[in-house]
Amino acid sequence: MSRPLILILGDQLSETLDVLTEAPDDALIALSEVSAEGQYVPHHPQKIVMLLSAMRHFADTLRDKGYQVHYSALDDDDNRHDLLEEAERLAEAYACDEIRVTHPGEWRLFERIQRRGTRWRLYPDNRFYCSIDAFGEWMAGRKRCRMEDFYRHMRKQTGLLMCEGEPAGGQWNFDHDNRAPIDQGLDFPTPPRHRMDATTQAVAELVTTHFGEHFGTLDGFNWAVTRRQALGDLRHFIAHALVDFGTYQDAISDREPLLYHSRLAAAMNIGLLSPQEVCEAVETAWQAGRAPINAAEGFIRQILGWREYVRGIYWQRMPGYKQENRLNARRGLPAFYWHGDTDLRCLQRAIEMTRDNAYAHHIQRLMVTGNFALLCGVSPAALCDWYLAVYADAFEWVELPNTLGMTLYADGGYLGSKPYCASGKYIDRMSDHCRHCRYDVKQVTGDDACPFNSLYWHFLERHRERLKGNQRMKLIYGSWDKMAQSRREAILTQANAFLDRLDTEPPYGRGEHAEGYRRH
Ligand code: FAD
Ligand code: SF4
Repeated sequence: MSRPLILILGDQLSETLDVLTEAPDDALIALSEVSAEGQYVPHHPQKIVMLLSAMRHFADTLRDKGYQVHYSALDDDDNRHDLLEEAERLAEAYACDEIRVTHPGEWRLFERIQRRGTRWRLYPDNRFYCSIDAFGEWMAGRKRCRMEDFYRHMRKQTGLLMCEGEPAGGQWNFDHDNRAPIDQGLDFPTPPRHRMDATTQAVAELVTTHFGEHFGTLDGFNWAVTRRQALGDLRHFIAHALVDFGTYQDAISDREPLLYHSRLAAAMNIGLLSPQEVCEAVETAWQAGRAPINAAEGFIRQILGWREYVRGIYWQRMPGYKQENRLNARRGLPAFYWHGDTDLRCLQRAIEMTRDNAYAHHIQRLMVTGNFALLCGVSPAALCDWYLAVYADAFEWVELPNTLGMTLYADGGYLGSKPYCASGKYIDRMSDHCRHCRYDVKQVTGDDACPFNSLYWHFLERHRERLKGNQRMKLIYGSWDKMAQSRREAILTQANAFLDRLDTEPPYGRGEHAEGYRRH
């Protein structure tokens, strides 16, 4: 009988993986900290600490359960610092003739494993509601592959929030109830504080030594690194935040990063929680009358709908998807994305919160940093690298479709039916940033005008040929066309002057600029 080596990747920390439940008694389990993974984009130090500490804790859990585990630490002398080469070295050392691994979450690694030969055996990742093949079947022959259609299909298939074949509450979607802006009287729950144990402290020191120059602080580190802590976060969210999650889902606060969001993406993405247990806990809270339907539906849609959908799109469209740039956006990343030193208050706060917490909620990512990059024409490669680096929950299968597709419209409308472009008016409606800003959100031209306003029209004018036929954009182009020629020219001049002054990094290709990041 052959002895397998089972490689567990850093985002596969789930005991329920087929590759583990089907492991023979003599299997060797390998987990490896390798510098190549920490550096291909300059990950936020909190993200690296979370991953390495969670890996070390998971290795201990497996040992406690009787598995034989080899853990390659970052400082080990014989560490090859490449995931696949390290696994092959260990396979030799432990006389394993097969290497088993769960399907990775990134095309780069998937492709490398495929090329490695027959010694390697891929197992499907069973932690999603919809497998890659099942998503392909759902897509096959469809003209339209919109998230909303997929979501309804998944609701029917799983029975989540379904009552006798009909959607609970009589509607599939309660979005219209979920658009309340920030309100000064709101009281936000404080998430549980996770004590930094000896393992996390040791990792924090290691990360400071190896990756200390990366963007982001470690001071406020508060990520779950064990399943127990992640379950605590889930319970806290259900008890204290879920009830208001829906209503204030799109609101943005100048002082509060989390509002009523769950911050569970990171734990789900690395395998400490399963999407099934999270959705079921939310459904149970709704059934017990502890959460209204707009909150439960709004939350479950994010996971059963968006999360599963973007993963499906990623695996159907890669590797070409990563090269898409249909709006021909060529600008480098604005330099202040690496330090937050800007007088545009909404951007300053989103970037400061990102630096301090390795977190920003969805609307900050989409409508503040994302919207600004879209309006300025930042290249998808530059922006994707940034998002992949700075958020604790960032993994390519979920980051890329959200950034390239949803935010930058670089796939030409495959993922979203229209670009999420907005002027300062949207940010003013949803947030309390503008009252703290040196710019006047009501002005479009002049020294005090909010830059988002002229950039918005500049974006629409730049992409008129592509977007004017879009039914959902007709009204906006109608308003633009009704403006006097001199007014339009003044707005475009204002935007051009802003773009000329904008300090950006050179438009590097993906992954070529690790040195550049370290300047800040
Ligand atoms: P909550 O607001 O509490 O939402 C609940 C859960 O729903 C999340 O934990 C997440 O698992 C899921 N979810 C919500 N929206 C999405 C979405 N659009 N796509 C997929 N899942 C979703 N999410 C990531 O997990 N990793 C990423 O790298 C990532 N990059 C993003 C980049 C951009 C430009 C944008 C606009 C969004 C990105 N998202 C990403 C989606 C979303 O912003 C985050 O999942 C969310 O902000 C995480 O915080 P939370 O756990 O508090 O989410
Ligand atoms: Fe942002 Fe404009 Fe508001 Fe300032 S005025 S916070 S730049 S939207």
